[in-house]
Amino acid sequence: MKPVPFRYVRPSSLHEACAALGADEDARVIAGGQTLVPMLAMRLARPSTLVDIARLPGLSGVAAQDGVVRIGATTRQVEAERSDAVARDLPLLAAALPWVGHPPTRNRGTVGGSCANADPSAEIPLVAVTLEAEMEAQEEGGAFSIPADEFFIGPMLTALPPTAILTAVRFPIWREARVGVAFHEISARRSDFAFVSAAGQVALDAEGRLARVSLGIGGVGDRPVKLDVAALAGSRAEPEAVTAAVAAACEVLEATSDLHASADYRRRVARVLGTRAVLDAAADAQKKDSGR
Ligand SMILES: Cc1cc2nc3c(=O)[nH]c(=O)nc-3n(C[C@H](O)[C@H](O)[C@H](O)COP(=O)(O)OP(=O)(O)OC[C@H]3O[C@@H](n4cnc5c(N)ncnc54)[C@H](O)[C@@H]3O)c2cc1C
Repeated sequence: MKPVPFRYVRPSSLHEACAALGADEDARVIAGGQTLVPMLAMRLARPSTLVDIARLPGLSGVAAQDGVVRIGATTRQVEAERSDAVARDLPLLAAALPWVGHPPTRNRGTVGGSCANADPSAEIPLVAVTLEAEMEAQEEGGAFSIPADEFFIGPMLTALPPTAILTAVRFPIWREARVGVAFHEISARRSDFAFVSAAGQVALDAEGRLARVSLGIGGVGDRPVKLDVAALAGSRAEPEAVTAAVAAACEVLEATSDLHASADYRRRVARVLGTRAVLDAAADAQKKDSGR
């Protein structure tokens, strides 16, 4: 099949791009095209105009400053994967990125495109929710930002107005001396979307107790979810305690059934991968013995 005819514009500024979106309610942004182009080819997307933001100045790049790693929306996933700042200050994203599709899709797919696309199984949105990232956006009226847990509102649905462009994602940096991470997922093949995924990040205090724990689960319901595992703070991440806390936290998950996996399977795997993510993140943190 071929796409339905559309107009193609490549604006030279963010202002022009927002104006093009504001002028046509059926216009759509294209960034890396890894999701949108197949949807066009299958006629599942029928925009009147494509607004190409891939080469817009100022929308790409990774910078660590003021306690956050700020990743421009059009930063290609491969650039984030190879970034020193991501490796040093955002190890959870570094652990998740190799799970995002294949090397060829990461060569073109963008960090912002993955977030704007909001697939419930996508890894980058899961990391954004787990770490409580802020999503920066721009529309004709000005710039604004949305917390990640309010940004993802359903399968392929975000709180971003259709006239707005996601411009960057700000991930907070954890400054504790001993931070550990783990990312796990189950999928049919390594590069496929996850049936269930779990992202864990912990910080240990000087006595080896959990000072902070963040755990997010993806693929189970209609969006990535951050679980409440605060009960573990102050503990030594003993397997029994972690298993019980993660199982209790997973009660809130609303699981979906589809051709790939039943809701029951997804709930069960969420408990297993969630537990594994916290324990492995704690073990990772144990290996770090010097401050930043
Ligand atoms: C074979 C294959 C396997 C894949 N496997 C995975 C996987 O395992 N995990 C995973 O997470 N992804 C996977 N993907 C998807 C891939 O990572 C895409 O890169 C990503 O979903 C979309 O990024 P993009 O830059 O290509 O966006 P595009 O395809 O250009 O756009 C996607 C959507 O987001 C909108 N959009 C894009 N950028 C912005 C912006 N800045 N502001 C507002 N709206 C915007 C577009 O209008 C469109 O609706 C896979 C893709 C393929 C083809």
